[in-house]
Amino acid sequence: MSEVQVRGLTVEYQTTAGWLPAVADAGLDLRAGEITGLVGESGSGKSTLALALLNAVPAPGRIAAGSVEVAGVGDVTKLGGKQLRKARGGAIGYVFQASQNSLNPLTTIGRQLLDLGRSHEVADLRALIARARDLADRMGLDGQRVLDSYQHELSGGMRQRIGIVFALVLNAKVLILDEPTTALDMLSQASVLEIVRKVHDENQLSTLIITHDIGAISEIADRLAVMYGGRIVEDGPLLDVLRRPTHPYTKALIGATARITGDVEAARALPGRPPDLTTVARAGCVFRDRCPFAVAVCAEVEPELATWESGRRRACHVEPSTVLSGTAGAPAAV
Ligand code: ATP
Ligand code: MG
Repeated sequence: MSEVQVRGLTVEYQTTAGWLPAVADAGLDLRAGEITGLVGESGSGKSTLALALLNAVPAPGRIAAGSVEVAGVGDVTKLGGKQLRKARGGAIGYVFQASQNSLNPLTTIGRQLLDLGRSHEVADLRALIARARDLADRMGLDGQRVLDSYQHELSGGMRQRIGIVFALVLNAKVLILDEPTTALDMLSQASVLEIVRKVHDENQLSTLIITHDIGAISEIADRLAVMYGGRIVEDGPLLDVLRRPTHPYTKALIGATARITGDVEAARALPGRPPDLTTVARAGCVFRDRCPFAVAVCAEVEPELATWESGRRRACHVEPSTVLSGTAGAPAAV
């Protein structure tokens, strides 16, 4: 059983052109003990999906359809009020994008932890603080000093690590991290992700890590999901997807990442630009304009995300073998 089952999730934002989907009909499972990496270019809908998992899509946005079933919690999209506040942070730990700025500037980190504990009716606040101190120490911080500090006394990288401590401290079973290491240099990035992996393993969490750095995530995730234009276009076991990408977009993303291909010369940026809400294709495949494999049907019929091999899904009209053997970055065929 999966800890988290996302089904048919559609999230819309109100724009001058009306309500438009930033996430369309997304389905995803997060299983206990597995880290799923979610990658895709800027604007593909990763953060919107993460916010929807916590029923925290800000106005002018709304969950237009679908469900997010979390074990022991129920359908998060149906929760409100106190139940929702308890689920957020309690059952589901999270770090939102750019959340290094979301600490309260007027009070110390330690007091904010106590507030968090009280709002979640934690009986043993002393144990909560001890756990936070230990997690902070493991993140390479001086735990006690951090607890006594105000936000302005800490660097962006320190705040980011504290954000992860907050996400973990209530013993959530599900962990959602949106760009958790962007304020960190490469070395601290790797060590923070290693610690996330350790805590994840110790507690058999179900973890989703969002990043546009496919190289960084490839070191620690078990599964990989790829988003484009609001759609999940491919997913599967991480190493298998990296070795055998069967969606042209996945293939192009990997080809553009020297850290994976090991070949800086050959790494080529994906030509063209990702779509936004107003420019994304309404009919057919969202990737067809940039796709070197596109054929006539791609302009007319939207491909469904379907299982083509055990554990592997893809949303593409072109045969997997054709994508696998073809050359990414070649000029469009049509
Ligand atoms: P990034 O890698 O830059 O963080 P992302 O994959 O997280 O990008 P989202 O932030 O989820 O992408 O945005 C998805 C789409 O929704 C984008 O086209 C974005 O412009 C649009 N969008 C996001 N927030 C809003 C909003 N509040 N109102 C209108 N459109 C929005
Ligand atoms: Mg984002």
